[in-house]
Amino acid sequence: AAEVPNTIAARIDALAQENSRIHDAECFNLNPATNVMNPRAEALLASGLGSRPSLGYPGDKYETGLEAIEEIEVIAATLAAQVFGARYAEIRTPSGAIANLMGFMATCQPGDTIIAPPAAIGGHVTHHADGCAGLYGLRIVEAPVAADGYTVDVDALRALAHDTRPRLITLGASLNLSEHPVAETRAIADEVGAYLLFDAAHQCGIIAGGAWRNPLAEGAHLMTMSTYKSLGGPAGGLIVTNDAEIAQRLDAIAFPGLTANFDAAKSAALAITLCDWQEHGRAYAAQMIATAQALAEALEAEGLPVFKTGGVATRSHQFALEAAAFGGGQAAARHLRQAGFLACGIGLPAAPVAGDMNGLRIGTPEIVRRGVTPDHATVMARLIARALNSPEPAGLRPETTGWRQQFDGLHYVT
Ligand code: PLP
Repeated sequence: AAEVPNTIAARIDALAQENSRIHDAECFNLNPATNVMNPRAEALLASGLGSRPSLGYPGDKYETGLEAIEEIEVIAATLAAQVFGARYAEIRTPSGAIANLMGFMATCQPGDTIIAPPAAIGGHVTHHADGCAGLYGLRIVEAPVAADGYTVDVDALRALAHDTRPRLITLGASLNLSEHPVAETRAIADEVGAYLLFDAAHQCGIIAGGAWRNPLAEGAHLMTMSTYKSLGGPAGGLIVTNDAEIAQRLDAIAFPGLTANFDAAKSAALAITLCDWQEHGRAYAAQMIATAQALAEALEAEGLPVFKTGGVATRSHQFALEAAAFGGGQAAARHLRQAGFLACGIGLPAAPVAGDMNGLRIGTPEIVRRGVTPDHATVMARLIARALNSPEPAGLRPETTGWRQQFDGLHYVT
């Protein structure tokens, strides 16, 4: 009778190994929405901490025997606040998507209007009607897009805000090429009595590393994020704020609102991740940006259509290719997958591609962790260009995987 479960368990083991082969040996992962964790954090995630229920506040838990876990929780939250220069950090946040829901709940009532960036500038579905903003009953108005800049148009946003009287304005996207007008948007929010939420799901590492100005310091009331993208931590979310009232509401939303017991292993892994940021965050963020810029330049030299605003491909760790020539962003991603490169589609303010996205997003969080530097950009760009232009991209995989072998280290200090 144990045969079937054992067969299934063996299959799961084999699939995990196959996943490891794809990501740790065979392919370059150019998706900025992913990363590799510090092995020490990885070990803690698998340590058994996570199977301990932990309901309530440190010092006042429902279950007993949680003294050690309580300290981990406090350390993780303290580190999160420190790394993001914030007074409050909410770590009981299961994902970036739920971070946004919690942010919406802390600032809006169902029926309120919000202004959010549209998909053409990487606005995320969680801010839209199909995502948690819509599910929570918010009315969503799309922010106007700047004519030359992958962000919102400030003057048009001001007019729209006065017209629609939003309760909340959001900034931040799934592709961020240059800094968003946070201070200007906060001024608009103040004029109409709105809150400003900065979604740093992707940019949190660049912000933690000081390469971009901190949106909280610029005036955002709260900042949400994913912890496993540029931050390189466990799958999860995080919210930081300097506003005591918002922090209090987030606290009640986290518990007893949306979470009861939560994962102490994730908190431990996050704490290790944040120690890394304190030690080498500046160097890592700078290297992510330098490598993205070098790769964008090298891809352009290969004749590929790098998307630019104001003549610049990126000031960030991510950039995009216009994907119409490849049948769309997702089509290009599937093509690259065969050649050993992982990436995915994104929206660009350009002509649409029927049935697909019109951009291909490329980012450097994972490849930099594995040791790719600007010096490798020319060789990598050549491989990517050959793959995108080849009718038989799978034929290139041995070459990609062969070159990939030299990048076998993970660059962590903690
Ligand atoms: N916000 C933005 C801008 C994103 O790109 C994502 C991506 O997934 C999310 C929120 C949701 O984050 P998570 O995947 O952690 O739920």
